[in-house]
Amino acid sequence: MTATATSALEAAYDRAAAGERLSTEDAVVLLAQGDLLTLGSLAAAARQRRNPGRTVTYIVDRNVNYTNVCVTYCSFCAFYRPPGHEEGYVQTYEQVAARLEELRAQGGRQVLLQGGHHPDLPLAWYEGLLRSMRERFPEINVHGFSPPEITHFAEIWKMPVREVVARLKAAGLGSIPGGGGEILVDRVRKVIAPMKATSDEWLGVMREAHLQGLSTSATMMFGHVETLAERVDHMDRLRRLQDETHGFTAFIAWTYQNPNTNLLRKVKDPAGSHVYLKTVAVARLFLDNVPHVQSSWVTQGPKVGQLALDFGCDDMGGTMMEENVVSAAGTTYRMTPEEMDRLILAAGWEPRRRTTRYEVLPPHLPTEVPA
Ligand code: SF4
Repeated sequence: MTATATSALEAAYDRAAAGERLSTEDAVVLLAQGDLLTLGSLAAAARQRRNPGRTVTYIVDRNVNYTNVCVTYCSFCAFYRPPGHEEGYVQTYEQVAARLEELRAQGGRQVLLQGGHHPDLPLAWYEGLLRSMRERFPEINVHGFSPPEITHFAEIWKMPVREVVARLKAAGLGSIPGGGGEILVDRVRKVIAPMKATSDEWLGVMREAHLQGLSTSATMMFGHVETLAERVDHMDRLRRLQDETHGFTAFIAWTYQNPNTNLLRKVKDPAGSHVYLKTVAVARLFLDNVPHVQSSWVTQGPKVGQLALDFGCDDMGGTMMEENVVSAAGTTYRMTPEEMDRLILAAGWEPRRRTTRYEVLPPHLPTEVPA
């Protein structure tokens, strides 16, 4: 390492320790040269500044993937089926309701409603679905339709994004998940998902959602064809939008999951747990205006999910009774609320359930928990 490189790293460490805003150059240096445990302790301190204490939150939720029919053909996706494929499906309102009954039985507070980019489903179908969910399950927030789905709707319904968001919100949409962010750099998007929303379109949907009072999460799928500078560019674009709107509740990063997808041949060395933990720690340090950072146990596994709590994460995301998109790519982890409690307790933290907007619910465990 040259003297200049060393001093740049030391300066970035110092700024992070002082709680100063990091530059993009700082973040690249930390990702490239930072020591894993040093980054972990800096990120843990940043987490304590923002969310002090030993509480780790999670939400009881489930995924509902209402259709797997999609015309966007992302190279990393093993979930979709093209129109006309014998394995393509669209769930009925009753099938969706049956899944929400199961979620209600667990005390669930959120459904993550996402689907493929179906070429023919009309707005009225979505409005009817949202209304039926709101009427029958008012306590369950619909966290639905990632930005690429919204831009797809705008295209097929020939409607501005603003109106799509307003119509879905009026029908019962409560918040928008950050899915489809991947890496918000168009060079990367052209390689991994050339037909999906551009970076500006993704950010434009989020801006519009925030302006209309919908909270959203932000995601990053990394460790494939992006450079470290592009990974930081992604975070920088999120941070700039957050400075403007303050609508992102949380940041969630996960590594590209490869076994069953076409992207595999383009990725020689997919990111593992070491890179995941470093990246999530740098994200906690860099995204100083995003309230929460989630540990992605669904993709990293419960054990790395626990470790991430010592690298700046303060939330374990959702219990995900059903997960089809990541599991279609070969990664399958599931958890009951009780298992989630045990996982958080075993890592030395106090589990609390929350709503989509991160309102912490009353304690659900006895104060004395048997070892
Ligand atoms: S990731 Fe989403 S948009 Fe891309 S192919 Fe899969 S279902 Fe379609």
